[in-house]
Order: sequence, then structure tokens, then C-alpha cells
Amino acid sequence: EKQTRKKLVAGNWKMNGSFDSNEALILGFLPEVDDLVDVSVFCPFPYLAQVAKLLQEQGVAHGAQDVSSKASGAYTGEVSVDMLKEFEVTQVLVGHSERRQYHAETSVAVAEKAVAALAAGITPIVCVGETLAEREAGQVEAVIASQLDPVVEHCAKFVENGAWNLVIAYEPVWAIGTGVTASPDQAQEVHAMIRNRLQAMLGTEVAQSTRILYGGSVKPGNASEIFSKVDIDGGLIGGAALSSDDFSGIIRAAR
Ligand code: PGA
Repeated sequence: EKQTRKKLVAGNWKMNGSFDSNEALILGFLPEVDDLVDVSVFCPFPYLAQVAKLLQEQGVAHGAQDVSSKASGAYTGEVSVDMLKEFEVTQVLVGHSERRQYHAETSVAVAEKAVAALAAGITPIVCVGETLAEREAGQVEAVIASQLDPVVEHCAKFVENGAWNLVIAYEPVWAIGTGVTASPDQAQEVHAMIRNRLQAMLGTEVAQSTRILYGGSVKPGNASEIFSKVDIDGGLIGGAALSSDDFSGIIRAAR
């Protein structure tokens, strides 16, 4: 079944970049891009125009790191799906743990963002993951379920009209930016649990076709082993996505 899911390597730049460094980074990894692996980058909003231009017809998708669930109106500081579409955005991150932690995003708010993205034909990459305290308390499954279920419930209607085009990223909070990755087996265990949950709620076809990325301290040196696991369909890369050498190495590892 694994062969039917093409790997996706997604770079989350977070609040990093400048016109100069963005260009150098993109030009640095572009030679590594081919048809065997999907690649995308998520830049800060002000750089969408630049990134869209640099990636035009290069076979790399680009997107934002967040989006509003609202269409327009009095929501200071927010950006809508229609605005993103003006920059040829085809994917968007929603529910990254840094959004949940620093901006109090609830799982229902995350689900509403995923709905707005799907309705606009943009693929949401929905991030889920437990903290270290939650893992140590034996709550991994409960936490993942509480984050995933509202998304599945809100987005199930898109399965019926053939517009389910959603990616899940499992990112244990304790592995993000810490240099500590989940072991490939620890990650696989959670990925399998997520896929089983999708299967129970949405059926086999959706469960088998939905890509589930791993994120948290992925580097060129650990990527191949992580990506070799049966339910791991690529990675969401933070720190290592800021170096064209590292990002290239991770793309190679996904082939
Ligand atoms: P990291 O970040 O690769 O720097 O751990 C991953 C993420 O937060 O998406």
C-alpha cells in the first residue's frame, strides 16, 4: 500500500528568512527536486510573492504557515484563503504546535482552518503531537485523538464530494527544534494509530491515501530510517529546511 503514497518533504521556515537568504536557499535545493518526491516550502506571509516567483514551474509547491478560517472582515492581522490563492498557494500549515502553544489555537479552531482551506482547494497540512509530559503520562493516543477527531469530523464532508485532500503531520512537541527525534519505531507507532483512526472514521480508501508526515528534528542523517517506516510518508522539516544542503539531503533520503 505504501507505494501508492508519494513522499512529501515540506520545509517549514517558521519566522526566518530575508529576500536574499530565501533566494539562496531555494536556488540551492532546486537541483535536487525531481518527480519522485513532492517538495513544498512554507514561508512567512511577506515572502509569498517572492517565493511564488522563484518556484514558478519548478515543481515545488509553496504555502503559508497559517490561515484564517474566516473569509474576510474585521479580523486584524489575519490572512484569508482567497488572499493566499492570489499567490498561487496550494498548501497551508494549520495547527502547528507553536500556533497552538503561543496563540491558543484549539483543535476546533484548527479544524475550521482546515475546512476553509479544503473549501478553497488548498491542501491543509494539519499538525498534531503530544508534549513530553503527555507522553510520560501515557496520554499519547488520547491527545492525538483529541486533536485529530475534530478535524476529521469537520472535514468528512469533503470525502463525499471527492475533495478530501488533507495531509497530517505528526510532530511530537518534545522533538521540535530539540535535536531529539522520536525513534523511527515510536513515530511509526503513532502514525499507525493515526491511520487506524482515519480508517475507523472515514474508511480504508481515505486512510490508505492520506499522507502522514513526521516532524521533529529530522536531519539528513536520520531521514532515511524514519521515511522507511510503512506509515511515514515524508517529513515536515523546520531547522534543517533553512539549509539548502540539509534540505537537499532530506529530499534525497525520501527517494
Ligand atoms: P524542527 O521543526 O525540524 O526544527 O524540529 C519541525 C517543525 O516544527 O515543523
